[in-house]
Amino acid sequence: MIRSYNKNSIFPVAVVGWVTSIVQQAEASQKRINAFLHEKPSIQNTAKNSSEIEGNIVFKNVNFTYEDTKIQALKNISFSIEKGKTLAIIGNIGSGKSTIANLIARMYDVDSGNIFIDSIKISDVNLYDLRKSIGFVPQDSFLFSETIQENIKFGKQNATEKEVITAAKNAYIHHNIIEFKNGYNTMIGERGVTLSGGQKQRISIARAIIGKPKILIFDDCLSAVDTETEEIILKRLKNISKNVTTIIISHRISSVKRADTILVLEEGKIIQQGKHTDLIKKEGYYKQIFDQQLLEKSI
Ligand code: ADP
Ligand code: MG
Repeated sequence: MIRSYNKNSIFPVAVVGWVTSIVQQAEASQKRINAFLHEKPSIQNTAKNSSEIEGNIVFKNVNFTYEDTKIQALKNISFSIEKGKTLAIIGNIGSGKSTIANLIARMYDVDSGNIFIDSIKISDVNLYDLRKSIGFVPQDSFLFSETIQENIKFGKQNATEKEVITAAKNAYIHHNIIEFKNGYNTMIGERGVTLSGGQKQRISIARAIIGKPKILIFDDCLSAVDTETEEIILKRLKNISKNVTTIIISHRISSVKRADTILVLEEGKIIQQGKHTDLIKKEGYYKQIFDQQLLEKSI
């Protein structure tokens, strides 16, 4: 995968996803790393022309198996999101949520079925334009030992200071940053400040939104912030993402309830699909989680 990467093109956001996935694999097992390194670059860009991405996404009977583990992560998945709409995905760990996100960014190709981006088969869409159009906030935010400003600018190399601040405000992290003595020039990591999980996630969000992506993917990236902060971030996002297709992956009802469509995944299958108001009326996984989280809140 890495070797098929064109050095002349910069896809900062996609790189963050890759780096994270590599780190995760490293943690998972050395065996996987070896398999990964020996893997032929399977994802190729075949499109000669550039693609203007609008953000309509369609999955049609998609099956996907991870080659190394032979785990079939997705089974006959079909759904569609129109550009500018919000899709939420909820389900237990291992149900296939992140895999859907990975396939939208074409980190892997499907076994069978099809994914269409703006009615074009994803394999025919210009890979570089696709990845440039996606703002990806991974589950485990990955920050560099650099300044806060550099970390945010990783999402748009030539961003102005004003753009950095706007992104930070929309990610609800600006007020934290200005409290540091060196503000946006504060170093992160070993040589600098230690950030909380929630702060890291919000910097990672600022990085994803600064490039004004057409498709924004939040992979469980609000898990470390409290529900009030989450509420603020999601409201701000709503304002800036009117024309942005947004995919929110979460195990929290509070994150997914406003979505235009919610997918409930179980073991790689969609077991429920609909809007919050409809799903809470039906017996099933969603209502169960809803009742449970309502109870937790009241306690
Ligand atoms: P979720 O995001 O809902 O927790 P995932 O999409 O990450 O679920 O995983 C779905 C299934 O695929 C799980 O069984 C998981 O172990 C497996 N899986 C996920 N990522 C990889 C990978 N990089 N290589 C092999 N198997 C994987
Ligand atoms: Mg996941």
